[in-house]
Amino acid sequence: MSVPTLVIHGGCGVIPRAQMSAAREAGFRASLRASLEAGWAVLAGGGPAMAAVEAAIAVMEDDPNFNAGHGSAFNADGAHELDASIMDGATLRAGSVASTRRIRNPIRVVAELARRGADPLMLAGEGADRWAADNGFAMVENGYFATDWRRAALEEIRARARAGTLAAAPESEKHGTVGAAALDAAGHLAAGTSTGGYTNKMVGRVGDSPIIGAGTWADDRTCAISATGKGEFFIRKVLAHEIHARMLWGGQSLAEASRAMIHDELSGWAAGAGLVALDRAGNTVMPYDTEGMYRGKASPAGIEVAVYAA
Ligand code: ASP
Repeated sequence: MSVPTLVIHGGCGVIPRAQMSAAREAGFRASLRASLEAGWAVLAGGGPAMAAVEAAIAVMEDDPNFNAGHGSAFNADGAHELDASIMDGATLRAGSVASTRRIRNPIRVVAELARRGADPLMLAGEGADRWAADNGFAMVENGYFATDWRRAALEEIRARARAGTLAAAPESEKHGTVGAAALDAAGHLAAGTSTGGYTNKMVGRVGDSPIIGAGTWADDRTCAISATGKGEFFIRKVLAHEIHARMLWGGQSLAEASRAMIHDELSGWAAGAGLVALDRAGNTVMPYDTEGMYRGKASPAGIEVAVYAA
């Protein structure tokens, strides 16, 4: 028997501390808590890690505070294209969608793809939308994902692109993601990630979140991971799988492997990177190299949430 544990993130694209009001931060904390409560209800009832990850992420997809589902970033066309994936550490089954435009909760669709046996594992664009609709999932018009906050971020990023000041844009205007990793009482691990991606991203651009091994990974032998940050770098480093490989074959601990990837391997790339992860013993890590990361943990000891460094 394992001690059930859940870790989540709402992305490392945080609002700079200097611009964060106490009321706004309290709102983010309440959102994180609601997600943890949903996932924890599954684990505390003896449910599987996969279901806990799905439940926790679905809450954040519905919450306009986060860049996933309702509240997703706008692409360069002023539309939304969503990416998501999930992986079951017990079976190594996984499901993934990329550039979906009409699936209300991408995490529910990828969980079903994984349940069905992961063939197909990954569906993109119109094919993903069609499969979800055909299989009875809630579908929405693309405008459902829009919020005034993300629209303002799109205008800001476009203005910065014209002025050549993109690099100085706050992380919160550029990106965000949600994710979760869980260990259930039976000792199984799972992880999932869901995102609207980068503000003003090129139409058709796909990040790391739906790429198994880059933004999401789970294997009962080692760990479960959900990442956030500049997806192109995570794909090039195959980051989540690399942490697993360092643990499995390199003998590193989860803390050593994830610190090395976030703080050493990515350090020169100004990636804006973070992750939440846990290992089969229930050890958790939440490293990031940005000013903060919306994050939290649920365990028998209770629920904790954080945004910036303590
Ligand atoms: N990883 C996401 C992407 O590249 C963005 C993020 O996590 O903030 O699409």
